[in-house]
Amino acid sequence: MSLPPLVEPAAELTVDEVRRYSRHLIIPDVGMDGQKRLKNAKVLCVGAGGLGSPALMYLAAAGVGTLGIVEFDTVDESNLQRQIIHGQSDIGRSKAESARDSVKEINPYVEVILHEDRLDNSNVMEIFAGYDLIVDGTDNFATRYLVNDAAVLLGKPYVWGSIYRFDGQASVFWAEHGPCYRCLYPEAPPPGMVPSCAEGGVLGVLCASIGSIQVTEAIKLLAGVGEPLVGRLMIYDALEMNYRQVKVRKDPNCALCSDHPTVTELIDYEAFCGVVSEEAQAAAQGATITSKQLKAWLDEDEDIFLIDVREPNEYEIVSIPGATLIPKNEFLMGTALEKMPQDKKIVLHCKTGVRSAEVLAVLKSAGFADAVHLGGGVIGWVNQIEPHKPVY
Ligand SMILES: [Zn+2]
Repeated sequence: MSLPPLVEPAAELTVDEVRRYSRHLIIPDVGMDGQKRLKNAKVLCVGAGGLGSPALMYLAAAGVGTLGIVEFDTVDESNLQRQIIHGQSDIGRSKAESARDSVKEINPYVEVILHEDRLDNSNVMEIFAGYDLIVDGTDNFATRYLVNDAAVLLGKPYVWGSIYRFDGQASVFWAEHGPCYRCLYPEAPPPGMVPSCAEGGVLGVLCASIGSIQVTEAIKLLAGVGEPLVGRLMIYDALEMNYRQVKVRKDPNCALCSDHPTVTELIDYEAFCGVVSEEAQAAAQGATITSKQLKAWLDEDEDIFLIDVREPNEYEIVSIPGATLIPKNEFLMGTALEKMPQDKKIVLHCKTGVRSAEVLAVLKSAGFADAVHLGGGVIGWVNQIEPHKPVY
């Protein structure tokens, strides 16, 4: 799928600009036309941290005419291991201002607009409205869903990336032409279940690997060249040094971008990223097992039926050996119940234990009294049992 250029070309390039961008201009697919489109483009980078640093620097060098930076934090010494847009003398300064100074040093022809606020429901629509494309460099789920929902509601494409330890992921979400972030990840893990880079660490140079994919995709979309990363998820494993691709389809039941959305405006993202229903909490009481317990059952060939209630996309990224995929929705619609064995212990799992607790409530009320679920889900399993596998 190729898409038309996102941006109209600027009227002209100056003599200085022609000299500066000559290595772009002689690429046939970019040329004068593509470079003029970059000059006219307005790109917003959410965050000037790990991913925002390389993204902003390469977007600036590439000649994107207007760069917006959303960032409210200040530069800390622990940032410098990966946030290469900032330097030693910037410690203690506003990250937005530090990033602006670096951008200006790389390319004085770029106009920089600073949004030194925490992105939230009150400002996101107004800020996003001024840009052609969003580059998401956020590091928390609440902001990630906020970015997705605002982009979908405004009909704007955004380039998403995420990093953790040696693992990175990237995709382009654009509901008009493909899936959105909610199609891939319909719900957020509860707070504290997925360690952040601050807790779990990140290989500094991973930011460059993923940030450069994001900039590449941004440039392709702006200039209308190549195959955009729409409907595809790139998964990078730095330890193995390989990139995998997973197809991501638009979810016909997506709460946001389907034909019958249940989310039609911005919601409370802090609550969305932290809620487990009371029924699910009650069902999980006394019926939650650990990864070690599950491992022991599997090793002892215990008669269990292990069910993964996530979506096929997620199953493809990482799964527990022996698990049968039956997505949560099949339980909610009732079609999964006939697949349940009567003579085996049912063990449910999802990404982190939220969805599996909900399914557990459904199963218990259908009479499967001794069903259990895996606390911490596949993420907990990977962390404790199979640490070489990717988390997402
Ligand atoms: Zn969607």
